[in-house]
Amino acid sequence: MKFVIQSRGDELSNRLMAEAKEYLVEFGLEYDEVEPDIVLSIGGDGTLLHGFHKYVHRLHETAFVGIHTGHLGFYADWKPEEIEKLVIMIARKDYHVVQYPLLEVEISYTHSEEKSTYLALNESTIKSPEVTLVMDVELNGEHFERFRGDGLCMSTPSGSTAYSKSLNGAILHPSLSCMQLTEMASINNRVFRTVGSPLVLPSHHSCLLKPVKGPDFMVTVDHLQLLQKDVKSIEYKVSKERISFARFRPFPFWKRVSESFVASDEEK
Ligand code: NAP
Repeated sequence: MKFVIQSRGDELSNRLMAEAKEYLVEFGLEYDEVEPDIVLSIGGDGTLLHGFHKYVHRLHETAFVGIHTGHLGFYADWKPEEIEKLVIMIARKDYHVVQYPLLEVEISYTHSEEKSTYLALNESTIKSPEVTLVMDVELNGEHFERFRGDGLCMSTPSGSTAYSKSLNGAILHPSLSCMQLTEMASINNRVFRTVGSPLVLPSHHSCLLKPVKGPDFMVTVDHLQLLQKDVKSIEYKVSKERISFARFRPFPFWKRVSESFVASDEEK
């Protein structure tokens, strides 16, 4: 089996990276940055996002697992002191795979037939370089609303504990194959109206955003910031691709939610 390690780059993460690499090589595993079967991420959820985008072209062949060196993570759910246990389980292939949905983002341009396509593990947001974003929102080919405000965020279920949560989105279990649209400071008054609630769309629905004022936008895909010029439309769909996580033990999602957002230190 081939593995690679993605570190956040701080001292602790780098030290654990060196330790894990040494152990895994001793167990006969091969370090391979090009075609890894397993990506061990050491740092935080942000580190795993970076690992995901580095190996996004190998989603069928690669499984991810994360150790957190800061606070408890959603993708990074192993503690540094458990590294030996984790390494032994990786070496024994003592895991099963759990898959989470991803978001497909397709950007079309006014002056070209070419389209850009991205996959997001957490979310994609759209903001205007001008003060107000004005976008027509179409759901399944039907006009839904004209949005005016700071921006829009389309999140995956596993991204619902990240940016989407700050926008008052619901927390969605990652076994649900869906995506969630939330608003950033929409303008609502007697003249302008938006729905004002997060929308959860199933996997056979699509959401098309068409600029009313533009044509340049700041689009994010997880941690990536993409200045997009001459945008004709942005389409969001639940992707047919999924990310695979190597699960070595049960760690229920709601327990992670409770430990991250609700429980006090004494309760953990
Ligand atoms: P960052 O600003 O360094 O990290 C943002 C925070 O989001 C970190 O605490 C990170 O956890 C946490 N996070 C990432 N994915 C998460 C998930 N699925 N559930 C719960 N928390 C999660 O940025 P970054 O490391 O490059 O990560 C980019 C992400 O930041 C974006 O995908 C977006 O979700 C998030 N973000 C949030 C806001 C907001 O809430 N207002 C604004 C911008 C971006 P770790 O410390 O464990 O890495």
